[in-house]
Amino acid sequence: MTAPRWPRGARAACAFTFDLDAETLWLARGVSEPVTLSQGTFGVQEALPRILALLRQAEITASFFVPAWVAEHHPDAVKNIVAGGHEVGCHGDVHEKVSDLDAAQEEKILVRSIEVLTRLAGRRPLGYRAPAWQLSPHTLGLLARHGFEYSSNMMDRLNPYLHAAIEGRRLVEIPVSWVLDDAPFFLFSGQRAIQAPGPVLQGWLTEFEGITAARGITNFTFHPQLIGRPSRLACLRELVDHVRHTPRVWIAPLAEISAHWRMASGVNA
Ligand SMILES: [Zn+2]
Repeated sequence: MTAPRWPRGARAACAFTFDLDAETLWLARGVSEPVTLSQGTFGVQEALPRILALLRQAEITASFFVPAWVAEHHPDAVKNIVAGGHEVGCHGDVHEKVSDLDAAQEEKILVRSIEVLTRLAGRRPLGYRAPAWQLSPHTLGLLARHGFEYSSNMMDRLNPYLHAAIEGRRLVEIPVSWVLDDAPFFLFSGQRAIQAPGPVLQGWLTEFEGITAARGITNFTFHPQLIGRPSRLACLRELVDHVRHTPRVWIAPLAEISAHWRMASGVNA
């Protein structure tokens, strides 16, 4: 394996990404009960402004993946994300699992998602994160056909890599992990107890240290409705401070990491 090549002498990279699922997390499952949906509304109304303030104070730019339904129902949220200098990427329409769709349905949703986000964010999305991190056999081909730069879905590496050419294009993959996601720890489904923030933070710090030692990318995935509760925001603040004060770690939105990786790999297609 060739050594990772990060810019400005960095030995590793780190990205803070947020999936703004809001109400769609339950709408996708046919739930319309108001209290359940209100947990998603919390993400937009209470959590997002605090997260944007935290990022601004830390002088960090992040990536936000926003379902088209959420963007249309909460246009000010998209406006505020963009005003903070952050990236907006695709995350389905109503958080539907693309693995349940046929190719035509999936493409229709992707095209709608690009149209809505381009209109509301003022810029065409470059990245795609599948709802629930499940791809169909058609997903990567559709992303290539519609001009995406990168996917952030796979869980097989600690570094970005290039997918094989498909539809004449090579997509950059920026891998994720359930370990670096807040949902497995903090999403309450009634099946098991919510985890306390302290031990979860400790796990993330240790994972970050390990990936940094391996010269990889720590790609955190948070959900405003989960990480935005005050006890967990304190945990996010500590995490951000720790990463910022770790020497030679490049913190960037995924679109910048993708562009760098493509350039460093010498691939233009
Ligand atoms: Zn999601």
